[in-house]
Amino acid sequence: QTVLGIESSCDDTAAAVLRGREILSSVVLGQTELHAAFGGVVPEIAARAHAEKLDICVAQALHEAGIGLDQIDAVAVTAGPGLIGGVVSGVMCAKGIAMARHLPLYGVNHLAGHALTPRLTDDVAYPYLMLLVSGGHCQFLIAHGPERFERLGGTIDDAPGEAFDKIARLLALPQPGGPAIERCAGDGDAERFRLPRPLLDRDGCDMSFSGLKTAVLRQRDALMIDGALRVQDRADLAAGFQAAVVDVLAEKARRALASLVPLTETPTLCVAGGVAANMTIRAGLEQVAAEAGATLICPPLPLCTDNAAMIAFAAIEQMPHRAPDGMDLSARPRWPLDGKAPAMLGSGK
Ligand code: ATP
Ligand code: FE
Repeated sequence: QTVLGIESSCDDTAAAVLRGREILSSVVLGQTELHAAFGGVVPEIAARAHAEKLDICVAQALHEAGIGLDQIDAVAVTAGPGLIGGVVSGVMCAKGIAMARHLPLYGVNHLAGHALTPRLTDDVAYPYLMLLVSGGHCQFLIAHGPERFERLGGTIDDAPGEAFDKIARLLALPQPGGPAIERCAGDGDAERFRLPRPLLDRDGCDMSFSGLKTAVLRQRDALMIDGALRVQDRADLAAGFQAAVVDVLAEKARRALASLVPLTETPTLCVAGGVAANMTIRAGLEQVAAEAGATLICPPLPLCTDNAAMIAFAAIEQMPHRAPDGMDLSARPRWPLDGKAPAMLGSGK
């Protein structure tokens, strides 16, 4: 099966061609510079950029794969969740191609794409535990099958990536905040400021990161001299914050693994999302996995962050278990992985 994948649910326009598990091409056209002046992704600008770039992106993916549309067997597209203007653009593009070439069309849940990535890059058997940690998401899932996900818990407010970005702003560090904080924290003393570990006292896998931001803000204001932060104070705060995130993710991962371990002989914890790039977080998760007798898997970063290879692969995984979508496939701004959400736009479903 040779599948064309299309992804446009946030601020990356992406297209990829997969033949089974072989990635023939994976093109990601970012929009960072378009949104830089606004301090966040502007949905209207994102939607326009997707509409403009989707054609080019698909053409480039086919070119890099060295094949034509006549050699494609199916089209897969992110149908949600995400910024609706972008999702609609992608779905329209995919429908156009599917209709013109009489190809089956598969609407894929973006989160399923992330959650299935470990099976694209590694030989992981179901069920496995998945931690999605990015700028927009934070949740623990058990993947029981290509379409069956059990959500164990997630953030009740900010995602960790969002917290890294906001705290980088508070500390006058550049964006994206994750790498900047990780670098800065390297010179800091994580023990100096005892920041809160929200929800650790509560059962289950729910998490909270917005209180951490407030705690850092207070501490920063107390340390500021003439509106500036000493270099060492800044590093210590960054390190203290990072340590708090590690502790929360590690403890919740320990609980999540306890739910998985009885279900399988080869327990595996997989991490995806931009925050998985953080070495201190990886080390914390590595330790928890080892204690539980589990293996930690972090797919390569370009496949952990938004891309279309994961969308094509999700369709390939799901094909034996589901029918293609019709031309009434609708774009969904919200689409929880473990349930059916009502469609908000378009007809049908
Ligand atoms: P989503 O894919 O959920 O819609 P997104 O596009 O923001 O959201 P990603 O591209 O997966 O998510 O990840 C970007 C986030 O990862 C940013 O918030 C960034 O700060 C964070 N990040 C990147 N590198 C690191 C790092 N080394 N440590 C911590 N966070 C990091
Ligand atoms: Fe994503």
